[in-house]
Amino acid sequence: MADYMTEAKQLDLVSWRRDLHRHPELGFQEIRTAGIVARHLGELGMEIQTGVGRTGVVGVLDGRQPGPVVMVRFDMDALPIMEETTHDFRSETPGVMHACGHDGHVAIGLGVATLLARHRQELRGSVKFVFQPAEEGQGGAVAMIQDGVLTNPRPDAAFGLHIYNQLPLGRVTAGEGPVMAAAERFQCRVTGRGGHGAMPHQTVDAIVVASQIVTALQTVVSRNVNPAEMAVVSVGSLHAGSAFNIIAEQAELWGTIRTLDEATHQTVLRRVHEIVEGTASAMGASAQLDIEELSVDFVNDAQAAARVRQAEARVVGAENVSDQQLWGASEDMSYFLRKVPGCFFFLGASRAEKEFPHHNPRFDFDEAVLAQGVAILCETVAGYLIE
Ligand SMILES: [Zn+2]
Ligand SMILES: [Zn+2]
Repeated sequence: MADYMTEAKQLDLVSWRRDLHRHPELGFQEIRTAGIVARHLGELGMEIQTGVGRTGVVGVLDGRQPGPVVMVRFDMDALPIMEETTHDFRSETPGVMHACGHDGHVAIGLGVATLLARHRQELRGSVKFVFQPAEEGQGGAVAMIQDGVLTNPRPDAAFGLHIYNQLPLGRVTAGEGPVMAAAERFQCRVTGRGGHGAMPHQTVDAIVVASQIVTALQTVVSRNVNPAEMAVVSVGSLHAGSAFNIIAEQAELWGTIRTLDEATHQTVLRRVHEIVEGTASAMGASAQLDIEELSVDFVNDAQAAARVRQAEARVVGAENVSDQQLWGASEDMSYFLRKVPGCFFFLGASRAEKEFPHHNPRFDFDEAVLAQGVAILCETVAGYLIE
């Protein structure tokens, strides 16, 4: 059997990642990134489809003889963040940054494609490479599914990974069952009555109403959710007002809801509605609340997870492999895993004690994780297609 780790270390993973890092693209705008991916897969002799889910790329690698189809998925999008690292490869696009590690995921995907193409004669079956746009809350996975990514050929199993810089390099996880949260985005628009800052009695101050709503929302998790269950309600954005002496007529807040099980989910949704609408009405304002589903709860297949843990153990040693803890992040890979059994796993990538977290302007990770990611995915797929 091939020694994928040795081969992975000889790839240009770091320079691929740094090039992608320098040229980040937001969701559904991954034109340059998709071009690099399509060219690379084409040069490896794969049949390619572009424009799948707007900017996604799909390539199919056929092994020596027909057999199962294994899908591997990599997300490509960056975030609307102004990078604050001092790297010489930092973002050249102001206000856009690869702050979640998806540049690393694309580099890993190119590496996996390179090595499995090299070893295609050993494979019985096909590998479907799926490079997905717009993972960060814009619905890239759903867009690809609508464009038929799960048909022709239909995958029998699906695998994906995420670099995680809050876990030490070399430590990896692959949990089974529910592993990540369902996520929603909510938008709340409060409408009061604007007026002169010196004559508040003639107004309904949208800022005061919105502030009460933000404070009251903190009680959903602390007072309404069973302490044994996981839930998150976070307000990430609050905008109102235009001048120091004008009472704002409108305020808009944006936030996110994360839950792991359906009963908690329903409780949280009901309480958010009651708090927003009840608080606004108690204060003489009105509020419009819109809640949009970003991802469904995330379930790893037990067999697929066992397969990944085996591959992980071969690459980083069994003592570094763990069952993943449940956490409040979400990932739209969950839409694929609703339809195809599979496993999404995490690769530790921190160098220092305290790395800046994902989505931070100074987010970074240890690039040694790239070769590990390539080797683990190659081992996983090869395990599936060689047996
Ligand atoms: Zn992210
Ligand atoms: Zn991410």
